[in-house]
Amino acid sequence: MARANQNYDKLAAGYLFPEIARRARAFADGHPGVELLRLGIGDTTLPLTPTVVAGLCSGAEKLGSAETYTGYGDYEGERWMREAVAAAYRERGVTLDLGEIFVSDGAKSDSANIQSIFAVDSVVAIEDPAYPVYVDSNVMAGRGGPFDPKRQQYQGLLYMPCNEANGFFPDVPARRVDLIYLCSPNNPTGEVATHAQLSRFVEYARAEQAVILFDAAYSAFIRDPTLPHSIYEVPGAKSCAIEMNSFSKSAGFTGVRLGWAVVPKDLVAEECPSGKLNAMWYRRQSTFFNGPSNVVQAGGAAALSLQGRRECRAMVDQYLQNALLIRDGLGRAGLTCFGGKNAPYVWARAPRGLSSWDFFDLLLNEAQVVTTPGSGFGPSGEGYIRLSAFGRRRDTERAVARIRATLEKG
Ligand SMILES: *Cc1c(COP(=O)(O)O)cnc(C)c1O
Repeated sequence: MARANQNYDKLAAGYLFPEIARRARAFADGHPGVELLRLGIGDTTLPLTPTVVAGLCSGAEKLGSAETYTGYGDYEGERWMREAVAAAYRERGVTLDLGEIFVSDGAKSDSANIQSIFAVDSVVAIEDPAYPVYVDSNVMAGRGGPFDPKRQQYQGLLYMPCNEANGFFPDVPARRVDLIYLCSPNNPTGEVATHAQLSRFVEYARAEQAVILFDAAYSAFIRDPTLPHSIYEVPGAKSCAIEMNSFSKSAGFTGVRLGWAVVPKDLVAEECPSGKLNAMWYRRQSTFFNGPSNVVQAGGAAALSLQGRRECRAMVDQYLQNALLIRDGLGRAGLTCFGGKNAPYVWARAPRGLSSWDFFDLLLNEAQVVTTPGSGFGPSGEGYIRLSAFGRRRDTERAVARIRATLEKG
């Protein structure tokens, strides 16, 4: 008899976003005609830029002619695509070999799949709160151990609290761990790690032969010139870090789908000399994946062209203006807010000691605004909500005005 992977039974019940959708739907059903404004889910709303659309069209047109038609491409992405990614890194002083770049269908798949090249009994450290994919992919792979409902934690994972006291970036683990997930600019807190903070982790990882899995999906939102966009800006990181990035948030590719992972040849781990983990990721991708769409890669290369980058930067600036609107508006209403300056998320502390879900319900019922409860990202997110800057400008302004009116009413 077939048996299911029992690790799936350990996943904490009720994934965050379906529960938010359920409550929003229940409200809408009970209040017909009342318009809900959504600052919840991190999905983009601005259209693709003209240069990107032209790139996608030319990619599609090539497929319509016998002379330029191509079928399967390289598993790790077209060479010109990887050259474009390498050129973007070079501008930040990071030199990558094209064999270290693996173009993919997005950073969610990569950040969920990357754990598969490491031992099943690896000890995993994650930031708390965090993008839920890091925890859930490791639970499915059997690294979670039992879920402790009281602490809202998997006993097999090491949670690194990110809170107001540590500026939303953790100190290195006090015990030995094997894999460390870091996300900067951070989803959900919207805060960004400094060069010094990343250096501490690189030092730790090199000393322990641990591997850092660095999610840089929001690097395009950094405007403070002192903040690192890539972990490879820290000397020594190539021997201890894998980096993932995406066109989803930087170019509006949430529906188009394109991302990349960097697995350096210098990366080392126990009994893994230089080159081995890089070769393993190639083996994994070439077995499970037939490479990213050629049409989409033409759009991605256009996004990385000089003109494409100008346009995408202007698009990201619009989202950053939304973030400032949210942060300023909520601040005026007396809320303590974090993030939102170099990231598209604002992390707001619930007033009067309310729980995340209580504050979520208050804003849903009284302001008709959908947010995301911080506790859904991990136990240290309790008492906060996340607001997304990816909405339309007009809706963002109206949502902020409604929240202010609700809070000022008391
Ligand atoms: C949105 C997001 C991604 C991007 O995922 P894609 O699969 O590329 O759309 C990756 N990591 C984090 C933390 C995100 O919020």
